[in-house]
Amino acid sequence: MIYKEFQDLKLSGLGMGTMRLPVINNENGKIDEEETQRMVAYAMEHGVNYYDTAWGYHEGQSEVAMGKALRAYPRESYYLADKFPGYDLANMGHVEEIFEEQLKKCGVEYFDFYLIHNVCEMNIDAYLDETYGTMEYLLRQKQNGRIHYLGFSVHGSYDVTKRFLEAYGKYMEFCQIQLNYIDWDFQDAKAKLKLLEEYRIPVWVMEPLRGGKLANLPAGAAEALRALRPEESVPAWAFRFLQTIPNVTVVLSGMSNFEQMQANIRTYEEEKPLNEAEFGELLKIAGEMVQQIALPCTACRYCTSHCPQQLDIPSLLSLYNEHCFTGGGFFAPMALSALPEDKQPGACIGCGSCEAVCPQQIKISEAMADFVEKLK
Ligand code: SF4
Ligand code: SF4
Repeated sequence: MIYKEFQDLKLSGLGMGTMRLPVINNENGKIDEEETQRMVAYAMEHGVNYYDTAWGYHEGQSEVAMGKALRAYPRESYYLADKFPGYDLANMGHVEEIFEEQLKKCGVEYFDFYLIHNVCEMNIDAYLDETYGTMEYLLRQKQNGRIHYLGFSVHGSYDVTKRFLEAYGKYMEFCQIQLNYIDWDFQDAKAKLKLLEEYRIPVWVMEPLRGGKLANLPAGAAEALRALRPEESVPAWAFRFLQTIPNVTVVLSGMSNFEQMQANIRTYEEEKPLNEAEFGELLKIAGEMVQQIALPCTACRYCTSHCPQQLDIPSLLSLYNEHCFTGGGFFAPMALSALPEDKQPGACIGCGSCEAVCPQQIKISEAMADFVEKLK
């Protein structure tokens, strides 16, 4: 196992994510505890010392299952991460009762790592609203030793990330972002990475395989990679990409079966960063994959002053692209929920004024209508 230094700790470069544990009868809330315990045992034996759970994973059962699985090991032999579920605004103002309940569910007296979960457009105002007392409470838990390291995870835009950092960056010891060779350009993950470097905050990675998309590439892309490194599997390239980025500390992979876990652990036996040509080839493959699905908006903003509805067209198209590429998911609906109704795709009246000036000749009104359909 590769280990990464973080303050005075040595963290395994690969952490076990627990959002997609094996389940019984396809029911998300029924975790297969026996199989989970087998996976944790294998991970522990092979040097994984970082385990990441959250209040909402598996309808609240991930914390319980991981608590049970890890109870078999001395407390100091693993690092457990949990998160405050501010992705649901109803939880704001309840940080104390949720934190106490999380400790009970996991059967521990402290969390090694604790994150403010999913900072995004929808909840940034609430996270920054001091009357909820979230940050104040968490800082107190850090002082009294029930949180060892405090951080945050972010699904919001660069601007949202920046707002959060301007307010709380001085307290944050790590940040979890979605980073992979698709999102490097597509979701501008590299800009967030740079921002975090400016704050000297180490990066934890979620979605290294983009929800499994990078485990199976189109045949031509897989062939091109095989020509560069015949011994490397397709999913391993996603991890080699991350091993190339210096600020990346822990990479979390949500392993939903034993074989996946074994393969990921094998990849982490050795660090094999990419050279420039290999890095470039991956970005080329990513560009081609995105191009097949996404609209080529360059965010030039020529269109926005022509929209009678004053829609932020490039931002909406960026969310549309994300929604199409992912094939649905929570990201776009969550970001849209932060907008007033008259600024959402449904407010487009199909006048076409924007299309007359778009240098990319994007059929914007069609995209807005399709977006509305896809969100139903
Ligand atoms: S077609 Fe829709 S997005 Fe384009 S200018 Fe008209 S209202 Fe705005
Ligand atoms: S004019 Fe076209 S390319 Fe430019 S921001 Fe608008 S939609 Fe995007």
